[in-house]
Amino acid sequence: MKRMNNGFRQQLFYKMKKEINLVEIKSGGVFVIDMMYAGTQNMMLTDVYTQVGLGNRCFIQPDLQKCLLHLEPVLKQKNLKLKICDAYRPPRAFDLMKKIIPQPGFFAAEAEKSQHCHASAVDVTLLDEQGRELPFPCKVDAFEEKYARLVAAGQWNEFQLHLKKAKYSWNSAEASIQTANRDMLRNMMENAGLEALEHEWWHYNLPNREKYPLIDCEFFPDGEVKFFTKQP
Ligand SMILES: [Zn+2]
Repeated sequence: MKRMNNGFRQQLFYKMKKEINLVEIKSGGVFVIDMMYAGTQNMMLTDVYTQVGLGNRCFIQPDLQKCLLHLEPVLKQKNLKLKICDAYRPPRAFDLMKKIIPQPGFFAAEAEKSQHCHASAVDVTLLDEQGRELPFPCKVDAFEEKYARLVAAGQWNEFQLHLKKAKYSWNSAEASIQTANRDMLRNMMENAGLEALEHEWWHYNLPNREKYPLIDCEFFPDGEVKFFTKQP
């Protein structure tokens, strides 16, 4: 018989998976971890990261940690903190999110195309010394509860108009403080070695995306998380 038996096939599968080393960033010093999909204040109004077992935990590529460490003295000097609102996204969380908001263009087309699923991207904003968010043209993800409710009801038009404020090309005479903060954040992040995304002021990628594979994970009861490559 030429057919592989199931046990052998499974063995082969585990041999093909390669373990990946990610680092966890915790709140403290100039960093604040507040993963927006761990709670319900996001465009889905649901806590997908909590549902899949990740919760409010921030895992990133070691190369991304190096970039964030470059930022540390700059943030300290300006008396600012970096709030990380999204980082590594498990592919199963991605799949759930696509089910809730299937509209093309809102999330990447598939997990393979989302840098978050490669742990090579972060969504961030800036906080002042008291922990208050600096004004930006819109919130991270352009989130506002009223838009989330409209999107859930299938009404996209108003939110699409609001989404324009997420772009670097958006400027307004009445929002010069907001756009100055946006441009300051971009400067800081680019000087630290990260790449901006033209249509999302809060999103930053590591360069050389092809270096970082799609990553799946397994959660253990003691809090340990194992990461490994996943075939798209
Ligand atoms: Zn992002």
